[in-house]
Amino acid sequence: MIMYNTCVLLARTTQTVPHISLSFFDMLLSIAFVIVAVFSISAQFSVNSTFKKYSGYVSRRGYTADEVARQLLINAGIYDVRVEPIRGNLTDHYDPGSKTLRLSQSVYGSRSIAAIGVAAHETGHAIQHNEGYSPLSLRNTIFPVVNIGSKLAMPLVFVGCLFYYFNFSLIVLEVAAMLFSFVVIFHLITLPVEFNASSRAIALLDRYSFLDGDELNGAKKVLKAAAMTYVAATASSIIQLLRIIVMIMGKSGRRRD
Ligand SMILES: [Zn+2]
Repeated sequence: MIMYNTCVLLARTTQTVPHISLSFFDMLLSIAFVIVAVFSISAQFSVNSTFKKYSGYVSRRGYTADEVARQLLINAGIYDVRVEPIRGNLTDHYDPGSKTLRLSQSVYGSRSIAAIGVAAHETGHAIQHNEGYSPLSLRNTIFPVVNIGSKLAMPLVFVGCLFYYFNFSLIVLEVAAMLFSFVVIFHLITLPVEFNASSRAIALLDRYSFLDGDELNGAKKVLKAAAMTYVAATASSIIQLLRIIVMIMGKSGRRRD
């Protein structure tokens, strides 16, 4: 984003004809960017503080998070997914390629409500994969393109800005916008995948009585806070894409003048 803002400043030095509508739209996007940045920071703060809070509550049943994950997998009829620890904090994920459910240091072996909630959420992803849940399949299919897009889009925006500054072709910015649109699509598909994994997690924890009553509410709060970080990431990616598009439109508009 810093690269992008430098780019916008550079681009503005080349503007001789004011484009009121685009400038207004750009201003709206700048305001939206600030709002989303604040939302992103507060979502990150909220997930850390909620996880920390409910890490302090040990579940009454006394199972560890990895034991819960293994049992939920067996209950779902899944026997080929491994559950193993991984370094780091909130690095928990399900890897569909190797069919491995990796739980972070603060989750694996923990008996806390927060850890059990996270482990059940990741198990939800393993169940989605096993069932062939279509948004997850689509997300996994476009992931290689997104991986390239997320790495190349911002450097391309910067190179595109240099082209823009020297009044060359818009092709680099257009390629950047196209690549970045895959990143946006990926984030949009991620939302139902994440919400669905969380709702499965809560339903399973309730059905098999791993958590109950206030414990279940605690796990819900942890998963809801985590979901908000995905909403923030999606909103942020949409704004970045719109800003690249506005830049392209601004340049196209000046060409017609
Ligand atoms: Zn997830």
